[in-house]
Amino acid sequence: MMTVKANIQEIRKQLPPHVKMVVVTKTMPVEKLREAYDCGERIFGENKVQELLAKQPQLPTDIQWHLIGHLQTNKVKHIASFVGMIESADSLKLLQEIDKQACKAGRKQDVLLQFHIAEEETKFGLDLDEARVLLHHLSLNPLPNISICGVMGMATYTNDVQQLTKEFRHLRLIFDTLKSDFFAGSDSFKEISMGMSGDYALAISEGATMVRIGTKIFGERNYP
Ligand SMILES: *Cc1c(COP(=O)(O)O)cnc(C)c1O
Repeated sequence: MMTVKANIQEIRKQLPPHVKMVVVTKTMPVEKLREAYDCGERIFGENKVQELLAKQPQLPTDIQWHLIGHLQTNKVKHIASFVGMIESADSLKLLQEIDKQACKAGRKQDVLLQFHIAEEETKFGLDLDEARVLLHHLSLNPLPNISICGVMGMATYTNDVQQLTKEFRHLRLIFDTLKSDFFAGSDSFKEISMGMSGDYALAISEGATMVRIGTKIFGERNYP
């Protein structure tokens, strides 16, 4: 079996310098996270608030935690004092709550807008029209404690390269459209978070600036 270290080194060799890696640590025990930390990894992604809250105090404070799973409005307050990026912002109501809690914590919160690009019905996220309505609203009613840093999407769980390519291109097009229509003057709107263990190379070739990788580093997850 390959070690966490060997897996990380293998992936790192393939990542262009401009692409950030989010090490997806969900379901993994803190010892595994520490191994990744000791390899130099500093961006960790969790999909559940409870799990994030349980692990964060046990690990070094220079880790940038990304929330990558669906976030309920009533849970924002628990993570607002420390979370590095919320990648799964998908409604105005949620953004307003993030802004409110960030303000209380005296911080400016980085977020990504999550888009629905997969065929599966279950995946959360906005579509382009919804995002336009939301961003138009924000242009009239700004949220000063939020910085929208780009877009995030989860592709369909498939090996079909054509399908994946289509979905990654779709997210890239959404990014380009929003950039020119709403963020032309913004340096912070620059991230496209897409690509996971099975498809990150393709995602990078389609413009990903951030990939989220779990299985390829830690092996298969055992869900209870
Ligand atoms: C679990 C998860 C990943 C990582 O998936 P792997 O296939 O294990 O690399 C990426 N993004 C999100 C949103 C996830 O929930």
